[in-house]
Amino acid sequence: MAERITLDHFKATDSGEPIYAIGLADNLVTIRSQQLRAICLAELLHSATPTLERKNIAIIGGGIAGLTLSARLLQLGWMDIRIFERLTDLLAVQNGCDTRWIHPQIIDWPLPESKVDMSDLPILNWTTDTASNVSYEIEAGWQKIVDSCAVKPSNDRGSIRRGKFTRTISVLLGVTHLKISMRPSSSKGRKRIKDHPVVEWIRDTKVSNRKIDGDTAQPSGQESFSKVILATGFGIETGTSDSYWRNESLGQLNIDGAQRRFLVSGLGDGAISDLLRLTTKNFRPDRVVNELSLSALEGFLRGQAKNDLLKTLESLTTSRKQALQIAKHDLHELIDYFSDRKRDDTYVVLHAIGRLGFREAFRQSKASTLNKVFLYVLYKNGAFQYVESAKYREEEVVAANKDVPAENIIRRHGVDRAKVVSDLFATYRIASGREYPKVFLREQATDCCEQHIKAQATYQRLVAALAAFCRTKSVVP
Ligand SMILES: Cc1cc2nc3c(=O)[nH]c(=O)nc-3n(C[C@H](O)[C@H](O)[C@H](O)COP(=O)(O)OP(=O)(O)OC[C@H]3O[C@@H](n4cnc5c(N)ncnc54)[C@H](O)[C@@H]3O)c2cc1C
Repeated sequence: MAERITLDHFKATDSGEPIYAIGLADNLVTIRSQQLRAICLAELLHSATPTLERKNIAIIGGGIAGLTLSARLLQLGWMDIRIFERLTDLLAVQNGCDTRWIHPQIIDWPLPESKVDMSDLPILNWTTDTASNVSYEIEAGWQKIVDSCAVKPSNDRGSIRRGKFTRTISVLLGVTHLKISMRPSSSKGRKRIKDHPVVEWIRDTKVSNRKIDGDTAQPSGQESFSKVILATGFGIETGTSDSYWRNESLGQLNIDGAQRRFLVSGLGDGAISDLLRLTTKNFRPDRVVNELSLSALEGFLRGQAKNDLLKTLESLTTSRKQALQIAKHDLHELIDYFSDRKRDDTYVVLHAIGRLGFREAFRQSKASTLNKVFLYVLYKNGAFQYVESAKYREEEVVAANKDVPAENIIRRHGVDRAKVVSDLFATYRIASGREYPKVFLREQATDCCEQHIKAQATYQRLVAALAAFCRTKSVVP
């Protein structure tokens, strides 16, 4: 049964401040699920906020989540929305990235809806495409909403008579310094003013700002907001200067005939995606599941969702049970598909931290079911060599032993979410000396197979609940 989504799900602190986060503590975060979260958060804030207080909100982060949230709030009539973005443009993470293919729901494979190639959202929809085209489509949709809601008559009648308008949204780009603190509640006469978050920021004035309705940004400031939303994503990946979203040519065959050697370090979705592109011709996950008819395998895996995937796949490959023969056939077809498309122009080492061998590493990987099935199939085909070492940063030694040049080491070690949060709130103290607010990150440790299975089930329940919640809301055109 779908869980009920409430504002509590988005609270970024455990002490009740009006600070919320989009997906910061969740597992298996994707573009579509971030958009679902953003839309739900907008609806929940709208319902929980009295009409006159629906204004003055800071959104930290001009990525997909920040834009989706701001678009929905604008549609709902909120005023004074301010987006703070550290980079020099909106959607800068995926912007211009032509080498990554994004599919809205494939991460949910083997669920039946995973093959639908549209995001199926109430706003800012997109279809499967390169990351750059997806971000372009989302931004174009956002701009349309902004254009239709950019300025509104002021709330009070006198201002309307005098022809005054209130700005609804502003964007600050190139925000190099940003800190959030809480101004404690105070009293003004008999009126009690509630705690409210304060954002202090400095922006790089060399960065040309997004002008919405002639808006010009000050170089620095300190402002209080009724609410602050952390739409900061997960920060930059650790251990690499080559982010997953930078363009490269790993998926292309070498045209000089030489074989190139690579080392991919990590066992998450990012690492497995690169491993697949380096070992398989013309690889794209949606192509594989659409070109092959895998319905028996998909049905079988759905029934086994709570079990150890490696054991499940291994027992299926050798199963003699009559009832499993079609699913077994599908799995063998998948193995043959990858075998036929194996690249001869690369030699790839998959590197991970561990001591117990590939089987244990596979069990502990936090990747999606689809990527793990692909990883198993590559393993069966001998498409890569698995090497583990005891510590991080030993991949250079492994690479040297395997004649992999340093520039061909691809580190996909994920992102440091805690750092994103601590950077925003670091060293900030209110007058009492109390560290404020206490930001919490929900349990993220999924370092064993059972925990990961649970995390995956929680993610699927959450996305189903978010999608159901979105469907119940009528969208303002
Ligand atoms: C290796 C890897 C592979 C992935 N593959 C896929 C995939 O195939 N499909 C998919 O759907 N998703 C994928 N994802 C997840 C995808 O990147 C996220 O779902 C998506 O980017 C989330 O959007 P967002 O707006 O929440 O965060 P982001 O896109 O990260 O945007 C956050 C924005 O906030 C800004 N920001 C951060 N801190 C501050 C600050 N202090 N002040 C001001 N601005 C700040 C950042 O500069 C950024 O622009 C992948 C992620 C990784 C790391």
